[in-house]
Amino acid sequence: MGEFELIRRHFQRPGVRLPPDVVLGVGDDGALLRPAPGHELAISTDMLVQDRHFFATVDASALGHKALAVNLSDLAAMGARPLGFTLALALPHADDAWLTAFARGLFALADSHACPLVGGDTTRGPLNICITVFGQVLAGRALRRSAARDGDDVYVSGRTGEARLALEHQRGTAWASTASGADLRQRLEWPTPRNALGVALAAVEGVHAAIDLSDGLVGDLGHVLAASGVGADIELAALPVAPALKALPPAERLECLLAGGDDYELLFTAHPAARDAVQTASRTSATPVTRIGRITAGQGIRLLDAQGQPQSVRVQGFDHFA
Ligand code: ADP
Ligand code: MG
Repeated sequence: MGEFELIRRHFQRPGVRLPPDVVLGVGDDGALLRPAPGHELAISTDMLVQDRHFFATVDASALGHKALAVNLSDLAAMGARPLGFTLALALPHADDAWLTAFARGLFALADSHACPLVGGDTTRGPLNICITVFGQVLAGRALRRSAARDGDDVYVSGRTGEARLALEHQRGTAWASTASGADLRQRLEWPTPRNALGVALAAVEGVHAAIDLSDGLVGDLGHVLAASGVGADIELAALPVAPALKALPPAERLECLLAGGDDYELLFTAHPAARDAVQTASRTSATPVTRIGRITAGQGIRLLDAQGQPQSVRVQGFDHFA
């Protein structure tokens, strides 16, 4: 199977109608997108490299899903609606069964977000998957990391920590042995990007900053704080805890919650006057959100216990001493 045959067989979908904002898809020298008037183009790229972001043994359909999911998650964090994506693929060999499964996972997610594949590049090499997504957001309404303000509420969507626990499970770590494997693996390998929530939030007056959680809650919150020149108080007791995490010893539970990674939830800040509107966005997008703290005029993150007292917590990639 040559390069063109591979593309034709696995990545061209003649039967699938393109949405009206895609003027031209796969097959020419470039794609043509038509964002709606008054909108800005939001663009994000994420690369997945074998042994760094995934193991060779991972199911190819899960890989197809995740490669797009992590990109859609970035658009969600901008509050942008997906328009389409490109796929740059390096493959050690043309394995038909592998490509079929990969494409299945990829297109299932793409179709559910009305985000078609519009082009790409295919070459021989060590397995490497690079996707670029294009989205649109009303001019001036994108949710930026730099927009958090003193007094804002801090929210997180869904729950954090399960993907990390799944990873520990795979690694055979003792403290993960109590958790059930299959559900957790789902969270690690089939993450759910929060696009409906992101788009709903961008329309809410008073929602300020957002980021998607790929590297752990405290680390990613830290990026928002640094970009915005503010601090944050996080109430540890307010963090949503998945059932699988409840059985963990407190230190390991906090490690998962605060420094898990691979969560692909949204963390965002909003003026307290926007609380009702945030709940409405949560409802209309069918995505749970939890208020976990507030933005302060200070610096860095304070982790507060149930009595509001700053706690000393040390998690990987983040040392905090109150
Ligand atoms: P060029 O020589 O102009 O770079 P290519 O031969 O690389 O063109 O690609 C031919 C067409 O196939 C282009 O429209 C390109 O976008 C598309 N394409 C190549 N690889 C992929 C892929 N992995 N997924 C989707 N489209 C692809
Ligand atoms: Mg090319």
